Amino acid sequence: MLGLMQDWPLTLDKILDHARTWHGEREIVTRQVEGPIVRTTYAQVHERAKRLSNALLALGINPGDRVATLGWNTARHLETWYGIIGIGAVCHTLNPRLFVEQICYIVNHAADRVILTDTSFLPMLLEQRGNMQTVEHLIVLTDADHMDDAALPGALCFESLLEESSPDCVWGGFEENTAAGLCYTSGTTGNPKGVLYSHRTNFLHTLTSMQVDMLALSGRETVLPVVPMCHANAWGLTYSCPAAGAKMVLPGPKLDGESLYELIESEGVTFAAAVPTVWQGLLQHMRGIGAKFSTLKRVAAGGSAVPEGLIRTLRDDYGVTLTHAWGMTETSPLGTESSPSAAVAALDVETQLKYRAKQGRPPVTIQLKLEDDEGRELPHDGVTFGRLKVKGAYVIGEYFRGDGGKILDDDNFFDTGDVATIEPMGYMQITDRSKDVIKSGGEWISSVEVENIAAGHPKALMAAVIGVAHPKWDERPLLLVRLRDGETATPAEFRQFLDGKIARWWMPDEILFVDDIPLGATGKIDKKLIRERYKDYSLPDGATPAAKG
Ligand code: AMP
Repeated sequence: MLGLMQDWPLTLDKILDHARTWHGEREIVTRQVEGPIVRTTYAQVHERAKRLSNALLALGINPGDRVATLGWNTARHLETWYGIIGIGAVCHTLNPRLFVEQICYIVNHAADRVILTDTSFLPMLLEQRGNMQTVEHLIVLTDADHMDDAALPGALCFESLLEESSPDCVWGGFEENTAAGLCYTSGTTGNPKGVLYSHRTNFLHTLTSMQVDMLALSGRETVLPVVPMCHANAWGLTYSCPAAGAKMVLPGPKLDGESLYELIESEGVTFAAAVPTVWQGLLQHMRGIGAKFSTLKRVAAGGSAVPEGLIRTLRDDYGVTLTHAWGMTETSPLGTESSPSAAVAALDVETQLKYRAKQGRPPVTIQLKLEDDEGRELPHDGVTFGRLKVKGAYVIGEYFRGDGGKILDDDNFFDTGDVATIEPMGYMQITDRSKDVIKSGGEWISSVEVENIAAGHPKALMAAVIGVAHPKWDERPLLLVRLRDGETATPAEFRQFLDGKIARWWMPDEILFVDDIPLGATGKIDKKLIRERYKDYSLPDGATPAAKG
């Protein structure tokens, strides 16, 4: 027997319709690519997105066509998302930080027909245009005054198109499983692969992410999404902020500590989301000028492991609560959050911190399991490492165009490629990417755990650990530390700091102080590049501590 309730397809256009009607005057503030701070509202964004829909229809865009964006977090970028998806086309977010060859590969693989781009990327597009075979139109996200026809001959001007187009356009009317967004993985192994979200999956992700134990969004918040719209849906904030009626503050291209701090203070930001390195940069700037936050209360961080020291500093020195989130492009992205369960909330504040530093627990829409290499389920004892697998309401079923073949196991779980533990209260902790784990004497060393502890040293700004080849133990850990500005340190200080916090045989064989720890296109430490740099590195004789036991 079927239920007798209304059929109300979960399509994303309804989110902006809702924001226009019930939160129409709520502001969206942008640091524009051209420089100034500009203000708009959900009502205006709604009208302009409809104009864009008409402009795209006039260019011949049909339902299912891929329309790409190459943009910073701005109100114009937000308008493009809704303008594209409202008419059933697919909003394909391109990550400008990828190598140009990868961007071209992705554009061709997706068969994008239009690219809407910020002016920052015109030189790259001018150079690569001939390599983008399916692209018929380029639209520059700027006004007529800032259009430079020589920069990209034949490109169209976004503001002129909007002016010429009607704001009357019917959105929606298609079924909820219609594709809405396309985002490629960063391709650390092989070519990037496309994750094709549907209206329904993004809608369910939106509802989940707004929950109190997830991002806890309300209409009273002023939200700064530093997480880029070009990667993993900006953690869904482009949908959840209008759904909640939260004010949005969009940082455009300026993501340095000084610019972010200025925006947080001038706009009264209460909640912000960013990868850990952004928080580290922001705090470094604030320490330098002795600044404090006057409105910021909560932050979410993820994308890579958040060091416990960062959570502590934000709590003790700045009165800000950090919630640690884990997820991936393939999970839309939010998979777990480390907010306190009833049992954890009953613990003393210091012990709670241990749980906040883990990646956390899944919401009702996500299932997790841990398996060994033979597919046997592993216990939730907090010590046994295993492959983390995931299944849920907004988890990938297959990659775009079937790349990578069958990616689900017989129970329809997706292997995340992460190695994790789950402890008895349900807190999952990522111990590594399966390809970064250090295999020493037949046992695994978690590179992430060692680098998190090392990054907590008061003199450290960032730390990275990789395995380097070793004749006896297969691989041994090498720790690279970037010190805070003006600091000096010795390897012995770091060894002493790690001593007692990690198993003896996990102790890095060598500790090097470096000027640069490279980050990849999505703000994570680029282990592949570091491994490449140290591929011929030989560890000093006699430094290897006893192996396990
Ligand atoms: P991406 O699809 O580019 O967002 O990358 C997803 C991957 O980032 C995950 O599979 C993890 O390896 C890593 N990741 C995301 N969040 C965290 C986190 N909080 N701690 C550790 N690793 C994370």
